[in-house]
Amino acid sequence: MTETTTMQFDLTPPTDEERRQLEADLSQEERHVLLEHGTEAPFCGVFLDEKRAGVYTCRLCGLPLFKAGNKFESGTGWPSFTTPYSTDHLEYIRDTSYGMVRTEIVCARCGAHQGHVFPDGPPPTGERYCINSVSLDFTPVGEDLPDRLGRGAPEGEPLAA
Ligand SMILES: [Zn+2]
Repeated sequence: MTETTTMQFDLTPPTDEERRQLEADLSQEERHVLLEHGTEAPFCGVFLDEKRAGVYTCRLCGLPLFKAGNKFESGTGWPSFTTPYSTDHLEYIRDTSYGMVRTEIVCARCGAHQGHVFPDGPPPTGERYCINSVSLDFTPVGEDLPDRLGRGAPEGEPLAA
């Protein structure tokens, strides 16, 4: 699979007004997962069978969060990755809900809920980033990355391999 280059992005959080505009664009299920820390049902996500080279971006703000080359078949029914696009692009939060201790991951730019990371992944990282499909969008190599916040290149530019 073609590996995509890691690029530098503007990680400044959206303003309140920008956030309102981004949130107005969400469906009810997207709102539930991204803003209310919900979890979608397994085996129904649109990206489970996505095999093209490219990057997965935050559904809310468009920041690249995972590379297609780090996606693996976990059998859990949720898109799973061994490592993030960049550790700067995710924020890790201790989550003790449902009587478990887990590590929640949210987008480092807009704070939208993505999923959890577990220590039972395959080599080389041993980590499993278990993500909701509705938290993500996908940009294949050659297509334009989203630029939801008008930040400019590399956002809004064709994704290079
Ligand atoms: Zn985001």
